[in-house]
Amino acid sequence: MRRREFTLLGLAGLGLPALAQDRAFAAIAEDFLEALWKLDPDAAVAAGRFEFAGRVTLPSSAQRQRMRAFTKHWLARLQRLPDAPLATADRMDRDMLVAKLQSDLWRLDTLREWSWNPAEHNPAAPLDLLLNTDYAPLAARLKALQPRIAALPAYYRAARDSLGRVTREHTELAIQQAPGVLGLLDDIGARAAEAHQAAAFKAPLARARAAVNGYVAHLKGLKPARGFRLGAALYEPKFAHDIQSARTGRETYELALQRREEVLTSMQAQAAALWPTVMGSEPPPADRFALIGRVIDKLSERHVARERFVDEIRAQIPQLEAWVRDHDLLSQDLAKPLQVRETPVYQRGVAGASIEAPGPYRPQDKTYYNVTPLTDLTPAEAESSLREYNHWILQILNIHEAIPGHYTQLVHANRVPSKVKALFGNGAMVEGWAVYGERMMMESGYGASPEMTLMYGKWHLRSVTNTVLDYSVHVLGMAEAEAMDLLVRQAFQTEREAREKWRRVQLTSVQLTSYFSGYSEIFALREQLKARPGFKLKDFHEQFLSYGNAPVRLIAAEMLKA
Ligand code: ZN
Ligand code: ZN
Repeated sequence: MRRREFTLLGLAGLGLPALAQDRAFAAIAEDFLEALWKLDPDAAVAAGRFEFAGRVTLPSSAQRQRMRAFTKHWLARLQRLPDAPLATADRMDRDMLVAKLQSDLWRLDTLREWSWNPAEHNPAAPLDLLLNTDYAPLAARLKALQPRIAALPAYYRAARDSLGRVTREHTELAIQQAPGVLGLLDDIGARAAEAHQAAAFKAPLARARAAVNGYVAHLKGLKPARGFRLGAALYEPKFAHDIQSARTGRETYELALQRREEVLTSMQAQAAALWPTVMGSEPPPADRFALIGRVIDKLSERHVARERFVDEIRAQIPQLEAWVRDHDLLSQDLAKPLQVRETPVYQRGVAGASIEAPGPYRPQDKTYYNVTPLTDLTPAEAESSLREYNHWILQILNIHEAIPGHYTQLVHANRVPSKVKALFGNGAMVEGWAVYGERMMMESGYGASPEMTLMYGKWHLRSVTNTVLDYSVHVLGMAEAEAMDLLVRQAFQTEREAREKWRRVQLTSVQLTSYFSGYSEIFALREQLKARPGFKLKDFHEQFLSYGNAPVRLIAAEMLKA
């Protein structure tokens, strides 16, 4: 509300009809999206738009040429729009679209991941969505799947032609993902049989399977000629495009080192204070990592029973809602309580707990908090997960994922009628908010105890260490053994968690910095505004979230203006 008033005043000063201008920009954004969905039906399907689902695009140089021309056309068109008549929200949308298009162009022509990452060419995601989303009756979905299955041999031919100097790690990933694609083809065959269409699908599915296997055989014959590390020359521009921070990658890394030291110092004091009650009469070790690690290890024994894991998470959600309400931290939408459920089997994979929210084209769909039960794990694996998500950390996980983290942020973001912000939202803002929310809840006294403070330190250190790790590995050449030591001994992670992280940092770059980058910018903004008279925490949260999923840098510019 406050923001709209401000906008209207600004426009009145210029003597421009605000509504007409709003509509004009909305129409341009709408034109852009419709053109994008036509050009890239896979992106459309991912966004929840299914009209062009039966259209096939190949990862070919011809398609890349079409994307390049499209991107340049729209970039020029959006950059021509003058600032002055645009409302604040529209100006942000325009800036976000320009940034997205610049990023797309940079990826296409400079990063060129399509030439060195064989896993980039994976047709499974849209096939999976078409098969498993109830957007239309099964027969209609099979009809959309048919041309896609028929095109898989051409798809993999184009993929092979695109590849040049590949990395070993991404080639291995693509080979590891092949059984998943084959499994999906089996599922499609089974659903086709259900719909009495087995005969029509039999031969195309056989050719599709052969194409997947042919791609794998081709990949096994390639000689990797590129390292997985991004290097400084690509890292800074990628950081700038993906994170949209006011800081550079280097500056963010240096800030993370500083924060790491602060967190470790406070954890050391906390662990020393806890030592006698937790560890008894044994003298505490002098080494700070050993001291903190031993206390955390002992405390981790306190955890929920394996079969109670999902129920316990379900029980905590109303407690978090009540805390946020009673402490006047943020408004919530009580008409739409968050539904906790076991992750659907076909979605189970990497993430143990995550928010699944419908996109802007499916507002009728529910938002779920998906939690993967520990039933499929061996006793040792389950114990390791339970120690990781112990009594204290499980609460922080729920703060991060649900309230006041991702779920609450999403409820606020959905009030912003901007498809641009919903579709191309800034990941660092979204993750940063969840990480900020953890700290803010601790500051409000939630679960206050020395044990909670120590465990929060461990959890927070994970976000900070993600940034240190990403920059160290991709720019500074950190070796595997050093990385494992950073994660296990110096950040108190389990061997298993650290292994997964090492794998992730080999396969991705920059994304791991989004948590700390977003958090540090939100926190700095709050501290800056706190110094102003009349600062109210709830108002700060409400206003910050009212801009939707925009980069913190753009939100900060607006909030500091007022
Ligand atoms: Zn146990
Ligand atoms: Zn998150």
